[in-house]
Amino acid sequence: MNANARSSFHLAKALLPDGWADHVRMTVADGLIAEIETDATPQADDARLGIVLPGLPNLHSHAFQRGMAGLAERRGSSDDSFWTWRETMYHFVDRLTPDHLQAIAALAYIEMLESGFTRVGEFHYLHHDRDGRPFADPAAMSAAIVAAAQDSGIALTHLPVFYAHAGFGGLPPGEGQRRFIHDIDDFATLLDRLRALLAPLPDAVLGVAPHSLRAVTPEELGKLVSIADGPIHIHVAEQVKEVEDCIAWSGARPVEWLLGAMPIDRRWCFVHATHMTQTETQAMAASGAVAGLCPITEANLGDGLFPTEPFLTAGGAYGIGSDSNILIDATEELRLLEYGQRLGARGRNILAPAGGSTGGTLYRDAVRGGAQALGAPAGLAVGASADFLTLDDDHPSLVGRKGDALLDGLIFAAGRPAIDGVWRRGHRLVEKGRHAHRDRIVARYRRTLTEILA
Ligand code: ZN
Repeated sequence: MNANARSSFHLAKALLPDGWADHVRMTVADGLIAEIETDATPQADDARLGIVLPGLPNLHSHAFQRGMAGLAERRGSSDDSFWTWRETMYHFVDRLTPDHLQAIAALAYIEMLESGFTRVGEFHYLHHDRDGRPFADPAAMSAAIVAAAQDSGIALTHLPVFYAHAGFGGLPPGEGQRRFIHDIDDFATLLDRLRALLAPLPDAVLGVAPHSLRAVTPEELGKLVSIADGPIHIHVAEQVKEVEDCIAWSGARPVEWLLGAMPIDRRWCFVHATHMTQTETQAMAASGAVAGLCPITEANLGDGLFPTEPFLTAGGAYGIGSDSNILIDATEELRLLEYGQRLGARGRNILAPAGGSTGGTLYRDAVRGGAQALGAPAGLAVGASADFLTLDDDHPSLVGRKGDALLDGLIFAAGRPAIDGVWRRGHRLVEKGRHAHRDRIVARYRRTLTEILA
């Protein structure tokens, strides 16, 4: 990849930040969009593309969980729940080496690219060796994530997780959590190492992720906020039990507690925030924090439904994440986000404003909210990385569609098969729906999983 290359594209139709435009000429320099002209005549050297959309940010992933996708779908002897799923996850975690993690993350990342995600927020909590001791390089597991991002070409917002306790009130961590644990000083050292590790990766961003209010004390959370210089992500109010435990500990609900005790602003992403009262919903929307919604995982884990409509009415911002990576599919996340609301409200077109296209609204909201949460500009705009996708103009579900009807067709009718090419920093990584390195990455993944599951 020539980092200094200058290239130009002529797009028949493109979704720009202020709407659809025809005959768009886009110039890319050093991987960034340098110029955008509409109603432009193609030049001799332009690469000619058809329908072009900005890439979607995936604001919440635990890449290693791709390896256990489908392994927790058997009913146990007791009632299955998030907490029994977590036991399966801890068991899988016990075996992973940095090499395994790199192989699994690379597969997850090419699948993300093929489905239309061009940046991933990796909420990374698997830090230490199998016996719970730090690796010689304390960032060895993060280095595996960085290598997978580099190999796949996806943009990375790395969110190293601070995890210190098993429950509210600073409970000591359990045996299954031994690979996640830091104190604040060790974590600050890790952040320094990560700054150096990410420096060579183009357009990488470093944030921090206090795992949840179960896993950090208020004092630790305050210190993390003071050392963070990028996005701050936290799992919150995903499960009813977590809400009950938080009330027992503090007298307040998790979102209520965060909004009252921490300087919540646009740097924050509340992942899930499923269980909120109306007052919390409005206060969270007003705080500027992004809601990190992961509809496929939330459905898989039986979390519940985020109050999306009241949150949007209050002016809240959201993005989407693939979280457990049980199924990696950007358009399906958006479709399920809307369908969950329809099933709950027994209505249609819940998340669009009056007269608006639901697909168009979902897509724009997810680009905008995801960009804010991941600390990197997105969208086809000057200064953003040239990250975009092309649709298959011949797909039956897109025939005769124009403007936002193309996004309605993509999200509700065609899905992932209508995504043709995916480009990062002006380079095509995916062609006809397949990543250029798919065969090699899948072969390595196959060897890895065969070894882990033997
Ligand atoms: Zn998560």
